Amino acid sequence: VACTLEGLEPRAVQVEVSLQRGLPNVHVVGLPDAAVRESIERIRGAFVASGEEFPRGRVTVSLSPAEIRKIGSSFDVPIALAILMAQGRVPASKTPEGFLGELGLDGSIRPVRGSLPLALGLRKQAIERCYMSETDAKLAAHVPGLKVFAVKSLGELLALLRNGQSARQTTPAASRATSEARYSLDELIGLEIPKRALLIAAAGGHHLLLLGPPGTGKTALARCLAALLPDLSDQEQLEVNALWSLAGPAQQWRSRPAFRAPHHSASAASLLGRGTQLQPGDISLAHRGVLFMDEFTEFRRDVIEQLRQPLEEGVVRLSRAALKTSYPARFQLICASNPCPCGYSGDRLKKCLCSPSVIERYKRRLSGPILDRIDLVAWVARTSLARSEVPKKGERGSRKKHIEALELVRQAKAVQRERGSAHGVPFHNAELSGAEIRSVVELDRESTLLLQQAETKFALSPRGFVRTLKVARTIADLAGREKVQSRDIAEALQFRFGIHH
Ligand SMILES: [Zn+2]
Repeated sequence: VACTLEGLEPRAVQVEVSLQRGLPNVHVVGLPDAAVRESIERIRGAFVASGEEFPRGRVTVSLSPAEIRKIGSSFDVPIALAILMAQGRVPASKTPEGFLGELGLDGSIRPVRGSLPLALGLRKQAIERCYMSETDAKLAAHVPGLKVFAVKSLGELLALLRNGQSARQTTPAASRATSEARYSLDELIGLEIPKRALLIAAAGGHHLLLLGPPGTGKTALARCLAALLPDLSDQEQLEVNALWSLAGPAQQWRSRPAFRAPHHSASAASLLGRGTQLQPGDISLAHRGVLFMDEFTEFRRDVIEQLRQPLEEGVVRLSRAALKTSYPARFQLICASNPCPCGYSGDRLKKCLCSPSVIERYKRRLSGPILDRIDLVAWVARTSLARSEVPKKGERGSRKKHIEALELVRQAKAVQRERGSAHGVPFHNAELSGAEIRSVVELDRESTLLLQQAETKFALSPRGFVRTLKVARTIADLAGREKVQSRDIAEALQFRFGIHH
């Protein structure tokens, strides 16, 4: 049994081979792509290298079900085995087993793209044992209930199958330490307001905009958000690592939320997904993690426009030629920008040189379909002690505040999860609809008054109103308050308009 992928969805594929007399000829039927058709040449080479004889007559390889497109080089090993079984040179196993891997001309078994989702697919087919390259095996060994065996070459695999030996089961790959884990709130001196914004964003899953002059530590703040998110759950880990495994063979296992910071010159393809086989882009690699868009106003308009749909749905849809697919892309967005073209509007060190009309035009660029979805705006002021570099090894200070913040985030998330399941609404406050957030926020008289004032004074829009409620709900959750109070609304309004500097 083998598997192919439609996006992240594995589809079982049955490989069958029939041998007939006649002129030497190989046919592959069942919608193979170019890599699958080429696999015959790789298999011939691997047979020679392993001392096996390639059948002389007509060979028909059938991949079924026929209507599913078969992608990639993971079929090399299953096809090679099916040929050998048809020749009666490998005994058919009593229990169904799974195989995946690309063959080298030297007979080696190589890692393939998407080995983790493929292995998940094999497990779904009720397969308990499977064989693959060592790199792939380390990832696949994380699949619950699957026994994975690493094999270096076709020769080694054949020896195992022929002698009925039991190979040594592969142990799962170790977790990868992310560099973001080194960031901590304690390293960011001053910056109390943006740090508060990070805490709220981390707790409620809110998107965040950081505004401030260059060199004030916006990037370090963004990395800190990733450091404030809790470890991924087992299910999330499988999902995230599956996406990473589609981007290329991976050596390490990710148990922490990812942090992706695409450059502002990034193309839509690299952000959303690309290539002949539609590799996941940055927004999918940031799934369950953080996507940081520094110098947001410099990103290409068309690129930003295409982020709208994935931001709304948490899924990105891709198509290329006959291939259509979709990948999960539920990430937390942090945008950062200078407050004006010269960067120094509102700074205390340097004077802003922009004219009011230029600033007005710039501000319009800062409003748009994406920034509409941002719940929190925080001003990053210059502090005399800005020390925003990565902490050097050995001089790491206390992580006291950071650990406190992590605990607050954990508790606030637990409160939201409980409320979410009680009300049948999404888990993060940021993901609630207008009606849903109204059902979990009861406004007292003072809060209503505050919101009415904001409507007249700051032209708070209906959408802004809903976003304010979401942030206020998270602030109350952080404080362990069941009811949202007027001070929560007041703080949320300050972050709505970025007005406290
Ligand atoms: Zn300026």
